[in-house]
Amino acid sequence: MTLLEKRPDRTLGPGHDTFWTWCDQDELHLPRCTACAVLMWPIEAACTTCGATDFAWEELSGRGTIVSWCTFEHDYYQGQLPIPWETILVELAEGPLFLSNPQGMSRHDMRIGLPVRAAFLPCEDGAGPFKLPVFQADGVSAPQSRERIVPNMKG
Ligand SMILES: [Zn+2]
Repeated sequence: MTLLEKRPDRTLGPGHDTFWTWCDQDELHLPRCTACAVLMWPIEAACTTCGATDFAWEELSGRGTIVSWCTFEHDYYQGQLPIPWETILVELAEGPLFLSNPQGMSRHDMRIGLPVRAAFLPCEDGAGPFKLPVFQADGVSAPQSRERIVPNMKG
């Protein structure tokens, strides 16, 4: 049995529900405006570029790079998230900026431009179980500590 991480409630509703359905299948999909072709994120009822309301859902690579990160030490979610917790801003390979959490990385592993790829973490909120897109280092394996990524300077 998989232990589900408790999370604050997701945003649900039109568009959001489609996003979470794809996440349940371990796939990252975002809506692309059929009028101006912009990839929409976050989910909106109408295109923020041209105002059109027709979208086509598109599978993304799940790859990107870290452009920023921070550590929250204040209990903004009243105990729903153990503090401190890490947040990263990922620039997806397809363009949109995506706010998420790192998996298998600590603040010491973070650097601008670090390649990452999406993973889908089994979670639970007030609406039930779901899979949360998080990001891990896009290598053979995620660095486990700062020491492992320091090159050996001897010899
Ligand atoms: Zn548009």
